[in-house]
Amino acid sequence: MTKHFRFFIVLFSIILSSCGITPSASNPAPIVLVTANPNALPTPTPFQPIPATAAPLESPTLISTFTPLPPSDTPLPTFEFTVTPLVSPTTPPQTSRTQYTMFALLDYSGHQLAVDETIKYTNQTGVTLNELVLAVEPNLRSGFTLENILLDGNQLNYDLTGQSLTVHLPQPLSPNAQLTLAMRFRLAIPSKQRDHPYGYVSYQANLTDWYPFIVPYSNGWILHDPWSLGEHLVYDASDFEVNIKTTGTGVTIAASGLEEPASSGSAGEWTRYRLSGARTFAFSASDIFSVKESAVGSVVIRSYYFEGYEGAGQGMLNASVKAVGLFKDLFAPYPYASLSVVQSDLNDGQEYDGLVFLATKFYDEYGGSERSNMVSIGVHEIAHQWWFGLVGSDQAMEPWLDEAMAVYSENIYYEYSHANYGDWWWNFRVNYFGPSGWVDTTIYEGGTFRTYVNAAYLNGANFLDELRWRMGMDDFLRFLKDYASRYGRGHATASDFFAVAQQNTTADISDLINAYFKGSY
Ligand SMILES: [Zn+2]
Repeated sequence: MTKHFRFFIVLFSIILSSCGITPSASNPAPIVLVTANPNALPTPTPFQPIPATAAPLESPTLISTFTPLPPSDTPLPTFEFTVTPLVSPTTPPQTSRTQYTMFALLDYSGHQLAVDETIKYTNQTGVTLNELVLAVEPNLRSGFTLENILLDGNQLNYDLTGQSLTVHLPQPLSPNAQLTLAMRFRLAIPSKQRDHPYGYVSYQANLTDWYPFIVPYSNGWILHDPWSLGEHLVYDASDFEVNIKTTGTGVTIAASGLEEPASSGSAGEWTRYRLSGARTFAFSASDIFSVKESAVGSVVIRSYYFEGYEGAGQGMLNASVKAVGLFKDLFAPYPYASLSVVQSDLNDGQEYDGLVFLATKFYDEYGGSERSNMVSIGVHEIAHQWWFGLVGSDQAMEPWLDEAMAVYSENIYYEYSHANYGDWWWNFRVNYFGPSGWVDTTIYEGGTFRTYVNAAYLNGANFLDELRWRMGMDDFLRFLKDYASRYGRGHATASDFFAVAQQNTTADISDLINAYFKGSY
């Protein structure tokens, strides 16, 4: 057996998938929306410095002292918070999106996080609300402690069960009325398992879905049950200001948002990040990160990797620049100010807004060719910036909407950048697995991980390819732009998807829908 052949045997033997769905698993704060314009024209410099128009960082306001916690097998002491009144808004809210402001104090070596969170919420449900429902993913594991929830300085009653936090409002909240919740919570960050980014290992702490957030409302609150595979959360597009301070030295933060230039980022100082119109804010802290940086126009692209992975880190940076450059032209402008691709010990990749995780094993395999898991799955996660981040959808009930689109975006990437690869991508990522099954499979109906991926991801890619050839590439690409434009920062359903497709072609696509989908659309 040649070395070349053995190499491909190894590649094929790896379960190919994405997005952390694994077989085994499973007093308002100031609102200042200052974000680099992702639509800015390209500049000849590596990247355009962010104008220093943001409000200067305040000195630490909410959490002024911090006592490292003892090992997690002893009771948690109370944090020594020093509360000062939240300052009044200096700039009126510029959108009715929910505004999250966080001050998060990370004890890196102690694996603890203390957070003050304020949520400015505008009731856009169209109905009067007597309660708010928030998702609290950390409470699905141990280590989440909610200290209080305040409204106008008064403690609110709430029920916290599993991932669901129901906050009872003292007065009904009318349509279009606004309120600001303030809450304080602590996390004893759990040790990380390979099937999910959340948690810590000795050299990295990943904070994903780490704070309570208000779930979308559409004829009821949308908070689906967790499941052993797939993703179950649905998010409204929201605005974030996240202030992070770490203890210790030499800790680098990779985050969904771009740090403000005034931030020093040194130990003991607050660093402020902003992210607008995003689903969720994630970050990763490590004391062994190296980083390579480039840009696409004004969008800062960073590749965070560990020692010994310089080649793969550079390879992933190059692929990321190409992918963002391609997808911004084909789909829509890149939605955020930055993209960070972050190495982590995972089975797979996992997308968040402005930040994606990629498994170390992909970096291990990488030999310099883009015919690799690292690049194909990396591009997949980057495509989720459009099909998940920009265009939201219900990941539990209609997972194909973001997953099949992300898979097919891989194909588009290889078609445009490596036409000489021929059918390599199709054979490597799709055909090898013999995909079948209804594309509109929910995460709960998927059966095994393999049958779920074969249906929602891979047969979804087959459907999209047939749709593309039926429509013709020009109409298909116009459709993708139209779809991204209409549903950007919002939510799309399968019916929305088919309607926009049909409006962009004179061809009848109903037989394709009937062949691949079990539902009526
Ligand atoms: Zn995915």
